[in-house]
Amino acid sequence: MLTADLLISLGIDLAALDPAPQWTPRDVPGLERLKVRHPCVCCGQPSTVVGAVEAPGFGRRWVDRCTRCLVAMTPRGRSAAPLEDTLDVLRKAVREAELTIPLKIVTDKA
Ligand SMILES: [Zn+2]
Repeated sequence: MLTADLLISLGIDLAALDPAPQWTPRDVPGLERLKVRHPCVCCGQPSTVVGAVEAPGFGRRWVDRCTRCLVAMTPRGRSAAPLEDTLDVLRKAVREAELTIPLKIVTDKA
């Protein structure tokens, strides 16, 4: 579920998001917004989906995302393995692959 807290945890500035109108049952404003491919709020690539979030202090804001970022931000079921074990495997894979791109791991754990 798209929430203001999720966007903040990803470093997205809620004030920079375009104001969105109130939700309507057929969401016509959302369909209209898709006619222009706004930059994805996460990576800047052309967006393919549009959503909106109620941002405390900012009102309802558009959240334009590319498909890749939509998938990355979609919550999934919990792993059968403990989170630390999963993160250790991921860190090891990053080291072995000698990735030079920054890797940001976001979890709901402190
Ligand atoms: Zn993106």
